[in-house]
Amino acid sequence: MMEESKLLEKLPLKQQLDQIRRVMQLIVDLDKNYVAWNVAASLFSAALSYGGMILSAYVLNRVSGDFTFAGLFGKIIIGVVLLSLGGSLLSILNRRIDLKSQMLSEKYEALQQEKLMKMDFSRITSPELKELQERIRMDNNWGAGLFTVFWCGKDVLESVIRILGAVVISIPMFSYFQRADLSWLGAAVLFLCLLAGIGLKLYWYFQKKSQYIMFHRPTAEEKKFLWNYVWEFAYGSDVYQYKNGKDVRIYNSYDVMKKWTLGKLQTKEFFDFVIKKPGIGDAGCYGVQTALYVLTQIGAYGIVILAALKGNMPVGSLILYADCLANIMIQTVYMVTTGADLSLAARKQVGILELLELSDEMYKGSLPMEKRSDNEYHIAFRNVSFKYPGSQEYALKNFSLEFQVGEKLAIVGRNGSGKTTMIKLLCRLYDPDEGEILVNGVDIKKFRHHEYVKLFSVVFQDYVLFSLMLAENIAADKDYDGEKVRRCLMGAGFGERLKDLGEKGITSYLYKNYTDEGIEISGGEAQKLAIARAIYKEAPFVLLDEPTAALDPIAEAEIYSNFDRIAGSKTAIYISHRLSSCRFCDKIAVFDKGRLVQTGSHEELLADKGGVYASLWNAQAKYYQAE
Ligand code: ADP
Repeated sequence: MMEESKLLEKLPLKQQLDQIRRVMQLIVDLDKNYVAWNVAASLFSAALSYGGMILSAYVLNRVSGDFTFAGLFGKIIIGVVLLSLGGSLLSILNRRIDLKSQMLSEKYEALQQEKLMKMDFSRITSPELKELQERIRMDNNWGAGLFTVFWCGKDVLESVIRILGAVVISIPMFSYFQRADLSWLGAAVLFLCLLAGIGLKLYWYFQKKSQYIMFHRPTAEEKKFLWNYVWEFAYGSDVYQYKNGKDVRIYNSYDVMKKWTLGKLQTKEFFDFVIKKPGIGDAGCYGVQTALYVLTQIGAYGIVILAALKGNMPVGSLILYADCLANIMIQTVYMVTTGADLSLAARKQVGILELLELSDEMYKGSLPMEKRSDNEYHIAFRNVSFKYPGSQEYALKNFSLEFQVGEKLAIVGRNGSGKTTMIKLLCRLYDPDEGEILVNGVDIKKFRHHEYVKLFSVVFQDYVLFSLMLAENIAADKDYDGEKVRRCLMGAGFGERLKDLGEKGITSYLYKNYTDEGIEISGGEAQKLAIARAIYKEAPFVLLDEPTAALDPIAEAEIYSNFDRIAGSKTAIYISHRLSSCRFCDKIAVFDKGRLVQTGSHEELLADKGGVYASLWNAQAKYYQAE
């Protein structure tokens, strides 16, 4: 049996209304006039359609009585001109609303991105946030986003306006009912039709919900049918990523992907689960519902015709009142179902509200970070231990190390030995679980976070460059110093390529995502850009975390020793699993399984024949001709 989605659980009305209120508030925060514009459009559209009905009724009443063509013609022209002017105005209003909707959706996206980009990094990588993002994505993907809430809300409002309008217009009808002694019968027929219509609509609605929910918030079983889980594997979720999919081609793996995507949707299991089961329920409901609609129409028209026959009602009024009654019934049913949709869509927005309300957990410090002109910074790790969120294993265990500006420090060790983790802790992307990290004797948690991070430039192994201008990439800012950008690019060895770019130079766009004229770069050139960005920041500490892992050992060693020249008076910390790249450093720290096992110069470490360094060196040396 399919695990029931939590969304079907009953939620008290008060809570449902509160959720709708919170989502609407979010919309108002994003664009304070949006709601007003939409209310105006709803009122206007109802006024226009009832205006048309009233004009037709007036003309028919006059035509069926004594009238002069000339007198009526003038009024028809005035009415039609007014209505058509109203139609044009409504279209202008709707166009403006369309534009506002586009902007609103961009602002909404930006709001989420800003939250994600400014949130604690440790939270970003946590399994809980991954789950929340997944939930938000699924909820938004299948037409249950912020706009669904809004549009459902707008539809409910429009139905209310139309019902009220129809009721007001039909008030005179009741005097005809009275005259024809039909008041009770009329009221009873109407009431029964309404009840039946609403009841059936709701039944159908929940019947359909099982299918609807499946594509919104999948349970483990439902996920089996969600093909986007697999397609994303090659092409990513949001943008068509033309660089992905190399492996798909090389291994010709389209067929196996298709098996889990399109193939899934062609199985009998899928057909039974998604189409057949809910389909039979739908068909039954639709059948009965159609019959009820017809009966409702007969009831509405029948009662008005009876009143007309007995009460001498003119033909135009007859049509007008019958239309109003039909409108009241249809709009009531519509209001109930869109109201239920609204409540469900609002519930699905809880993920976004949850995300926006997350507060940072990491202590951001209050001590000013002194900017020392002599760059005298001393860093000490004291008995630091750390496990990644959701992990049972220590990535770093009881780790102690000291170093200061001016020293050339290398951190070496096998993959997975904790080197990157140490850098992440130093930059406060995470805080240690035990122990402390000190800068000039003060726990780094105490420094103002935004000032503290200015101490470090890091070129991560998986650094990211953006599809923006070269200069913006290097400055990592919208404002940049062009001369400095060029200097840094040349310092990082990108000078020749920069010359080739001609006039556009540092204003050239990287990659082709933004413009067709964007430049493509090799892996080595990308590393140079990442290094140039690190130099531009002018931080006292520059950390190179194997950004060169894709290069051969000799090229890596070259980049590392060149970088030493570029870094000048700054302290560079070099990380590598290749010992040869780091032998020029004054001090080498050797990591093994999350622990610091040795420190010393290359020669000292080699002398310890039984040590990890010597064994790694001997294992690696045979691959490097350069040694
Ligand atoms: P190195 O830089 O020496 O290759 P890392 O510091 O990246 O090693 O990793 C140390 C250990 O922490 C490894 O066992 C790795 O699998 C684990 N690890 C790294 N990043 C994460 C993460 N985000 N979540 C859970 N475990 C991680």
